[in-house]
Amino acid sequence: MEIDELFALITYPLSEEQRGLIQRAYDFARSKHETQKRNSGEPYFVHVFAVGKNCASLGMDVETIVGGLLHDTLEDTDATEEEIREQFGENILFLVKGVTKLGKLKYQGQERHVESMRKFFVAMSEDLRVLIIKLADRLHNIQTLKHVRPDKQVRIAVETIAVHAALAGRLGMGKLKGMLEDYAFPFAYPKEYAQTKQLYDRRMPEAQKTIQEVHTSIQKTLTEFSIKNPAVDSRVKHLFSLYRKLLKYQMDIDRIYDIVALRVQVETVADCYQVLGLVHMLWKPIPGRIKDYIALPKPNGYQSIHTTVVTEYGIVEIQIRTYAMNNEAEMGVASHFLYKENKNAVPASKKLGWLDELRELQGVVKNPSRFLEQLNHDLFKNRIFVFTPKGDVIDLPEDASPIDFSYAIHSVVGNSTSSARVNGKMVPLGAKLQNGDIVEIITSKNAKPSNKWLDYAKTTMARRKIRAYVTEHGGLLQKFLVKE
Ligand code: MN
Repeated sequence: MEIDELFALITYPLSEEQRGLIQRAYDFARSKHETQKRNSGEPYFVHVFAVGKNCASLGMDVETIVGGLLHDTLEDTDATEEEIREQFGENILFLVKGVTKLGKLKYQGQERHVESMRKFFVAMSEDLRVLIIKLADRLHNIQTLKHVRPDKQVRIAVETIAVHAALAGRLGMGKLKGMLEDYAFPFAYPKEYAQTKQLYDRRMPEAQKTIQEVHTSIQKTLTEFSIKNPAVDSRVKHLFSLYRKLLKYQMDIDRIYDIVALRVQVETVADCYQVLGLVHMLWKPIPGRIKDYIALPKPNGYQSIHTTVVTEYGIVEIQIRTYAMNNEAEMGVASHFLYKENKNAVPASKKLGWLDELRELQGVVKNPSRFLEQLNHDLFKNRIFVFTPKGDVIDLPEDASPIDFSYAIHSVVGNSTSSARVNGKMVPLGAKLQNGDIVEIITSKNAKPSNKWLDYAKTTMARRKIRAYVTEHGGLLQKFLVKE
């Protein structure tokens, strides 16, 4: 439990002062938690040290790492706010207070789920780092879940999948999401876990063998065609993600081709397409399974080309992406701290959704803490997070209305919107939604979009769908009346 373990995880240069700050936080947490023990019987400090290390592994800045070390001092020790302010400053006190405020949320069914999500988003809009410390905290708690009372395990594990992993996914932190889910899976859904694991173990040896053969072939071809600096490796699907996919395919594992996928990383986008060409030259792709998430990124910003090909060794999914894209996919928001120097980022115009804005900032702001400041300010200032009655999060621009919400769910829902309830009360379709609102859309067969709705809609997507509908159903005359 040496502090050097923590320093070793930090990949950017530290000033003497920063080093000292981390050392002081380490000592402070250690002495404050001195007499406490965890359920496992280990000293409590093991936990906060692990959280500090998780923050470092996620590539976070010094203040966040310090916040991680101190995250339980206010709640669980005699440390006072004044003490923390005096020794570590206002920013770190803010982070620790933020984490403490999120507190020990109890997951109790759907209603509480919405409540916790709402709290998380509010905390996140104040300072994203509070949320990241909380996720680092949860990661260690879920890794040590076996020491917790059995009746609590299920609740914590289900909550981890429903809330924490979902948020990590929303932030594009794929690796963290996968870890949270996989540690939680056996506790949350033991039967399903056992079934998935069994299918996985049965299928794995063969899949590994296929991958090895294909790996060798591809490597040879890449060299032959002088692709610059390629890295080929295989990634094994996270178990929970496999389970989710199995559900879609009636638990038939033979219909899933990406249990192990081959991943090719190259330097540029142009190289990605060249590699795709070479792969298709070697083997026939399965129609409908070529996905170009480089040209059309997923809503969370994920970029990669996926293709499934029929090889002489078996059917294999191949994922092609740049090094920068791979880093983004695994680290998400946090990659901005680690790789802030990276100039090869793909233009933001290529991406969709709120992460666009986030990435754009990356280019502008060099310094990690400045970056976060900008991020918190620019990204969350003009956005609100609202919820479906089931607790799914929809993010919308400020001033969005129930009509925007409705189209954000699905155009079919949008087109048949008849009325809306916000936090249980009926509101006009043009009402302004607020951060944290729970919105329920009531649809009807007789409802249909009208030009009036264009006044209510703030998002381009809703406006486009409304216009398309009105144009199609309203004939020429209507078309004239639709203002651009
Ligand atoms: Mn904790």
